[in-house]
Amino acid sequence: MATPLSNRELDALREDADRFIAELDEEAYLHFAGHKETYDLVPIYERHAELTKLDTALDVGASVNGGRNVRELWRFACEGYLGNFVSEEEEKIAEAETHSVKVGGEEIPYRDLRPRIANEDDRARREALERVRNEATEEHNGLYIRKNQVVHRETERLGAPNYTELYRGFRYPLDDLADQCRRFLDSTERLWEDAGDRFFRARIGLGLGEIERWDVARVFRGAGWDEAFPKDRMLPALEATLSDLGVDLRSQRNVELDLEDRPNKTPRAFCVPIEIPERVVLVIKPQGGPDDWRALFHEAGHTEHFAHTSPSLTVEEKRLGDNAVTEGWAMLLEHLTIEPAWLERRLDVPRPLEFAAEGATQLLWLLRRYCAKLIYEIEFHAVTDVTTMKSRYVELLGGALKVTPSDTDYLADIDDGFYASQYLRAWAFEAQLRAYLREKFGNAWFTRKDAGSLIRELWSEGQKPTADELLQEVTGAQLELEAAADRVREALAAV
Ligand SMILES: [Zn+2]
Repeated sequence: MATPLSNRELDALREDADRFIAELDEEAYLHFAGHKETYDLVPIYERHAELTKLDTALDVGASVNGGRNVRELWRFACEGYLGNFVSEEEEKIAEAETHSVKVGGEEIPYRDLRPRIANEDDRARREALERVRNEATEEHNGLYIRKNQVVHRETERLGAPNYTELYRGFRYPLDDLADQCRRFLDSTERLWEDAGDRFFRARIGLGLGEIERWDVARVFRGAGWDEAFPKDRMLPALEATLSDLGVDLRSQRNVELDLEDRPNKTPRAFCVPIEIPERVVLVIKPQGGPDDWRALFHEAGHTEHFAHTSPSLTVEEKRLGDNAVTEGWAMLLEHLTIEPAWLERRLDVPRPLEFAAEGATQLLWLLRRYCAKLIYEIEFHAVTDVTTMKSRYVELLGGALKVTPSDTDYLADIDDGFYASQYLRAWAFEAQLRAYLREKFGNAWFTRKDAGSLIRELWSEGQKPTADELLQEVTGAQLELEAAADRVREALAAV
């Protein structure tokens, strides 16, 4: 029988959750930045065993009183409970993915297959690599099926008939968002057919009807623009951009820049908010190229959001809450790298409007992909036998993108905890906030100190408000996915 917890018990749990997340973050930082070879999660889970027990989740659930903080704590306890259960399957999946596969006499680690395809010029070789990747993925799918069976079984013990219902209980606006996604897919169908076709033709000489899934990563890699985005200018451009907004990156005592090169350091930039706001780490290993610039600015957006978060907020408001907020701030900085006015100021990109239009087309691909993914995931997590969803994956994703995906990806291409919904809402938040900033401060809003003051003030609110509330507070508007479509249309119309 679940019993509501006292305020004192909830406080103790909150403190425990705070330390648990800090320890997980620190371990992730040490491992992925290449400071430490092993990734030791088990001792951390053991130190905080109470947090991930079924009774804890049920008792916190019984304590939800309409307030957001306890509901967030309940979600955290449920996710911890499920996470603990599937950690074995996840370790096995991670292990399987470190194995190598044979491609024409060469041994290639499974995880290197996608980057290899993105960097392969020869079309037939790209296809061969993709076919090998699909076969290997199919072999891992047994593990994913087991993981999903465990999640389904344990979700019922948490009191919800399935995972989708569990998240509806956390008040995720899944159904409203899915409606917006269907409308977005309709309203941008022609736009994608035209812009996508032009984009693929310009970059690789194949139209939307001819392009295959193994060509897409190659096209997105955008190697033709590499020279315009050199690696030695990434950090100076970031520092100058933040400085315009009133942030002196080098003198921020609570921001650690991990710049040193280490053999096992993940090449993609990442941010770890170990203590919010006292210790936020931004890990960088600059490679150069438009993708790498985008990743750095995205992670810098997370970094500054967490570093400016008010220390007086509760654990839930700092560490939990609506991740569409931090993703929205990350998108705001990331999308500067496809902003013509910014490109002209910080880089000498030839034909900035053209680059911005291509960036908007890639954004449209992502938006349509995530719309289809969310609709798919809502259905996926409500069925008892997930193997029945294989053809539905191809139908939904292929329908949205006009490029047929591999049905072998129908299990791996799923984000835990409906994270797709946070990205979608973050894209809407960014589009609407950017429109507001441009209206109020001009097209070069990112050079204005007063825009910087407003942004820093909003950062200080952490994740106490949701993305919807934050937008309402600043602009008075509702979060609308269609705003992201308008943003894409504007960039396409400028060329
Ligand atoms: Zn992010």
